[in-house]
Amino acid sequence: MSEEKHFKYVVLGGGVAGGYAAREFAKQGLNPGELAIISKEAVAPYERPALSKGYLFPQGAARLPGFHVCVGSGGERLLPEWYSEKGIELILNTEIVKADLTSKTLTSATGTAFTYDILIIATGSSVIKLSDFGVQGADFNYILYLREIDDADKLVAAIEAKKGGKAVVVGGGYIGLELSAALRINNFDVTMVYPEPWCMPRLFTADIAAFYEGYYANKGVKIVKGTVAVGFDSDKKGDVTAVKLKDGRVLDADIVVVGVGARPLTTLFKGQVAEEKGGIKTDGFFETNIPGVYAVGDVATFPMKLYSELRRVEHVDHARKSAEQAVKAIKASEKGESVEEYDYLPFFYSRAFDLSWQFYGDNVGDTVIFGENDPASPKPKFGSYWVKDGKVFGAFLEGGSPDENKVIAKVARVQPPVADVEELRKEGLQFACKI
Ligand SMILES: Cc1cc2nc3c(=O)[nH]c(=O)nc-3n(C[C@H](O)[C@H](O)[C@H](O)COP(=O)(O)OP(=O)(O)OC[C@H]3O[C@@H](n4cnc5c(N)ncnc54)[C@H](O)[C@@H]3O)c2cc1C
Repeated sequence: MSEEKHFKYVVLGGGVAGGYAAREFAKQGLNPGELAIISKEAVAPYERPALSKGYLFPQGAARLPGFHVCVGSGGERLLPEWYSEKGIELILNTEIVKADLTSKTLTSATGTAFTYDILIIATGSSVIKLSDFGVQGADFNYILYLREIDDADKLVAAIEAKKGGKAVVVGGGYIGLELSAALRINNFDVTMVYPEPWCMPRLFTADIAAFYEGYYANKGVKIVKGTVAVGFDSDKKGDVTAVKLKDGRVLDADIVVVGVGARPLTTLFKGQVAEEKGGIKTDGFFETNIPGVYAVGDVATFPMKLYSELRRVEHVDHARKSAEQAVKAIKASEKGESVEEYDYLPFFYSRAFDLSWQFYGDNVGDTVIFGENDPASPKPKFGSYWVKDGKVFGAFLEGGSPDENKVIAKVARVQPPVADVEELRKEGLQFACKI
């Protein structure tokens, strides 16, 4: 007979949200044996953003246990021992292949059944692969993706195996930008390819992107825009040798890294729970339409109170905070109490080369750019505001200090009125400092 294990609380997914949920459960009070975290990864929850940054440094690279949660937000580092000390079962290397929300049962690939009273779905996202679109040759060796630590280890091994070679990065989003920088720092001859007119089009304006593209060009990264990879060549061993582009060009490549987006991992729950905007629909406490079933992090589509709209957010800050919110709500309801509804201010950031930017709020309306945005400047520092209906909705800052980043967060939250856009441009960061 196959094994069966019961827990009061099960968190499915041992990523960022899984780790922060565990810490919050411990904070709120937990009896040994009540909580299990189930993860298909082999390691305890860690700060995923490190994989495209410090993990790939040629010297002094970040390695576990250095970046287990919750160090990314300045908190305690939860080593595997922490879970056992707290009586939390950390069930690793375990993929759940079936979920039945009616019988409250999750079944693993090896046939173990996990039953629960309360479930938190924290399965995150999986990368979109070129093979999903049937791109010819997409399965050749050294065509790589990055989501989990195993992928990062493959990338590190490829960097070693193809030392100083040619790398093509497919995709101009934040993964593409961070990985291009990492490969360049590792002395690769790097070319980025993306179809859009400029990088990070989901957030960057043409002005913002012009700075980063100029900066990357100065670092020796080549950029090919307005086309996509339609096929690959390989040698006899099956190692990729070239990327064929739609516009007919062919780029030599020893390594190809693809960052063309991710999909929330909701398949296990299809048809069993309400969905919206590609994610699992929740309320402001991250509870789904099935009582006792919660969804947090990348998979949750939740009410964004600030904008009176349902949204899904694929960023680390929300993964942390949504997990904490769900656990607080669960624990409060057990005591017949309640917590405030989630009131989230969107926050994204990225770091590459010596650059570091933060963005808060909503990138809607007209934009105003300010500051020193010459890519050749020794100390670039510039920002942008998004203005809609005469109010500031979003704020971006490259090269800000921690205090300055706090100031732009505040401006995006307060949404102060703007009388004169030209005045706003001249005032730049000072405008936010006055709020
Ligand atoms: C390389 C990289 C860099 C990033 N950098 C930034 C950044 O700089 N700034 C930023 O804001 N955001 C960044 N992000 C996004 C951020 O990391 C994610 O939004 C965040 O990790 C989401 O947390 P999560 O817990 O929802 O999902 P994840 O952290 O992805 O965790 C999901 C976990 O669930 C497990 N799982 C999934 N399905 C199953 C199953 N069936 N059975 C068992 N286990 C399962 C997975 O193996 C994984 O461990 C980055 C993401 C990546 C991949």
